Amino acid sequence: METNSLKHLYVEGLKDLYSAENQLVKALPKMARAADSADLRVGFEQHLIQTKEHVARLEHIFSALGESPKGEKCKSMECLIKEGAEMIEEVSASEELDAGLISTAQRVEYYEIARYGGVSTYAKRLGEDEAVPLLRQTLREEIETYRKLSQLADRINLDAANSNESDGGSSQSRRWPQELAPN
Ligand code: FE
Ligand code: FE
Repeated sequence: METNSLKHLYVEGLKDLYSAENQLVKALPKMARAADSADLRVGFEQHLIQTKEHVARLEHIFSALGESPKGEKCKSMECLIKEGAEMIEEVSASEELDAGLISTAQRVEYYEIARYGGVSTYAKRLGEDEAVPLLRQTLREEIETYRKLSQLADRINLDAANSNESDGGSSQSRRWPQELAPN
């Protein structure tokens, strides 16, 4: 691929992420407030701090590039956050709500992982040597967050199963989509 079009893809990817991360800075406090589990709430609060660092890293990369970080709103993130907000409105049972919040958060992290994976590869190919470690650091944090969410899903699931033994644990498979199952 020509360097020019790769550079274009790179900058567009960074702008998309800048929009996505800024949307998350607004959404994560709402997700934290909605969480029933204290661990999940603290997890969202901690990831909010990281997310603000992700914004700052992107701003640093844009200033080195001499480009504005502003672009179109990331529609993928807008949809994921909207679905999460609708779920918070609709679900009342606390276990189900936490399961839904974790599922929403995992889809968000998946999106970020895919995007940061892409832009860090472009940065490497373009010789953007200062940006590569910054993007990889954020990528590692998104992967780690996804992993923590999976562990939390497992733990909350076990707690819920223990407190509701009358259904013989059969609710487990209903409550948790397969991708949230422990590794
Ligand atoms: Fe992020
Ligand atoms: Fe994230």
